[in-house]
Amino acid sequence: MQNPVLALVIPCYNEEEVLQKTIDRLCSVLSELEQKQEISEKSFLFLVNDGSKDKTFSIIEENHKNNPQKIKAISFVRNFGNQKAILAGMLELKNFEFDCCITIDADLQQDENKISEFVQKFKEGNDLVYGVKNDRNDDSVIKKICALSFYKVMNLLGAKTCPNHSEYRLVGRKTVEALSEYSEHNIFLRGVFQELGNNPAIVYYDVKKREAGKSKFSMFDLFSLAIQGITSFSTVPLRLVTFTGILISFCSFLLGLSAILEKLFNLSVLTVPGWATIVAAISFIGGIQILCIGIIGEYLGQIFTEVKARPRYIVDKVLD
Ligand code: UDP
Ligand code: MG
Repeated sequence: MQNPVLALVIPCYNEEEVLQKTIDRLCSVLSELEQKQEISEKSFLFLVNDGSKDKTFSIIEENHKNNPQKIKAISFVRNFGNQKAILAGMLELKNFEFDCCITIDADLQQDENKISEFVQKFKEGNDLVYGVKNDRNDDSVIKKICALSFYKVMNLLGAKTCPNHSEYRLVGRKTVEALSEYSEHNIFLRGVFQELGNNPAIVYYDVKKREAGKSKFSMFDLFSLAIQGITSFSTVPLRLVTFTGILISFCSFLLGLSAILEKLFNLSVLTVPGWATIVAAISFIGGIQILCIGIIGEYLGQIFTEVKARPRYIVDKVLD
């Protein structure tokens, strides 16, 4: 196979503190690989400015002006979130010459020295290669527990995801074309790629500390992403709601039946009516009802945004 044209897709949101370093580092990775004849000399960085409010875009513009062949970019009109930025980065490559792309964060947390391994796997014929974290030592205990439970719940609900795979991945042109067929608004990329690739190759990498700047993800954002992942890939929670309803109805039927039997045969097994038990039972049922309504609401919310079919992102400027 000829040396592939590689595009490094980098989502950027308020990354002024680290971006210049990242651009320099990734450019030198590209030129190393070009010298070793692993990739084509036409390879380039493709930055996606996700509506940054700081100097991120001026840094990108400056770099593009100095080196337009290597630094290309698009900029959104406002912030659309990390998933949409990565998606746009891949889809908008259709206007450029490329054979494969690798999505990598702007904070250099993912080991950029592994890019060569990704390309190797691509050359061996894999159109989709996942980067999987070796460990999560830098994550807080809560984040570790949440991440682990998320993968467990997802798999239990029948929506398979690859544990510890984040958004560091290589995607070949063919797979990008397949991805463009997925028109959903609330896109959960890790789930979609699981459907796209039969047997993705894996590259293990170490997670580094953020070089500079702050994480853009709060626990709330991660929780929202998890709910989006579950509700856009599995309807099992809705079925659980139905089963819970059936189970509770059956229990109340038994309770009613026992009350009738008690009356008929004058038994006094259940005739110690305690206030606490009644309140407990009522609040338990109430809690389950609210939870069930919440689950239905989540799906309704998904349908609501999908039905409106608004654009997933709006590109303001293209630096090509
Ligand atoms: N990001 C983005 N839009 C957002 C939030 C984040 O494009 O609304 C980018 C961010 O610039 C970074 C990547 O997504 O390149 C991952 O974000 P971050 O490092 O803050 O996440 P963490 O590593 O803490 O999970
Ligand atoms: Mg990060």
